[in-house]
Amino acid sequence: MTMNIVVCVKQVPDYEAPASAYRLDRAAKRFIPNDSVAKMLSLFDEHAIEGALQLREALGGKVTSVCLGPQDATLVLRKTLAMGGDEAILIDEAAWGALNPFVTAHILANAIRKIGDVDLVICGRQASDWDFGIVGPTIAEELGWGAVAVIKGLSGHDGGLRVERLLDDGHEVMELALPAVVTVSSEMNKPRYAPIQKVIQAKRKTVPVWGPAELPIDAAHLDELRGRLDLVDLFIPEIEAKCEIVSGENEADAGEKLALKMRDARLV
Ligand SMILES: Cc1cc2nc3c(=O)[nH]c(=O)nc-3n(C[C@H](O)[C@H](O)[C@H](O)COP(=O)(O)OP(=O)(O)OC[C@H]3O[C@@H](n4cnc5c(N)ncnc54)[C@H](O)[C@@H]3O)c2cc1C
Repeated sequence: MTMNIVVCVKQVPDYEAPASAYRLDRAAKRFIPNDSVAKMLSLFDEHAIEGALQLREALGGKVTSVCLGPQDATLVLRKTLAMGGDEAILIDEAAWGALNPFVTAHILANAIRKIGDVDLVICGRQASDWDFGIVGPTIAEELGWGAVAVIKGLSGHDGGLRVERLLDDGHEVMELALPAVVTVSSEMNKPRYAPIQKVIQAKRKTVPVWGPAELPIDAAHLDELRGRLDLVDLFIPEIEAKCEIVSGENEADAGEKLALKMRDARLV
């Protein structure tokens, strides 16, 4: 049994950048990072690639990473190649208009169909920027495949997969027929560092760019998918801070008064 694995990877702004590095454009409903914020591979997608590489090492096969993103997203695709991926494909987002998770999943599902003979799609449990957590399961629905979300273990089993699905207080073990989609959590593995020779080799590899010529997608259907979700507002909540000194005849009395005030304010 060999595995033809596709890993969906997203390029995101540095998820460790401070909030002050972003500006909110409330009218466009977007957070805009300043120029100092680096672009990187979404956190859980690094674990998704590592999981795919380990599965390929155990069973044989091929790992292809796919990113729907801007032209410079070849950066994260080259990282997946340097980690050990076999091929990478960029789908140029400029061709498809505004994205939402359903539009993204539809375009990625079309790319997976075009790649052909795919056994397994691995996604991150959620993207490090918008965190919808929708794309992976929606790809499964688009393709009519089985899916398990938020897994921490993955191995081949009897022509299918055995996965460990993360729970609050442990995990459950499930068997999944192929083809299938899984979304992975960071508990699954420790992503490997890419050795410098592989980084250099990855820079020389060709990353094909797909657009409407390779993926003829009905624009009216994309509009319908866009209509499924309306982001009404995006804002930074105003946090009000008040300071009140509670005094009393002595420390015990002040403590009692403080406790009563906190109870009245439903803080305890
Ligand atoms: C009003 C609004 C405007 C937006 N405008 C834009 C825009 O102009 N351009 C833009 O890029 N985004 C835009 N977004 C964000 C975009 O909708 C989401 O990034 C996208 O739909 C996926 O949702 P998510 O990132 O939360 O993915 P999740 O569902 O959290 O992602 C889970 C996993 O799916 C996979 N995945 C997700 N996205 C991709 C991808 N692009 N390529 C490959 N794999 C992926 C990864 O494996 C990821 O770990 C906008 C969002 C809103 C609400």
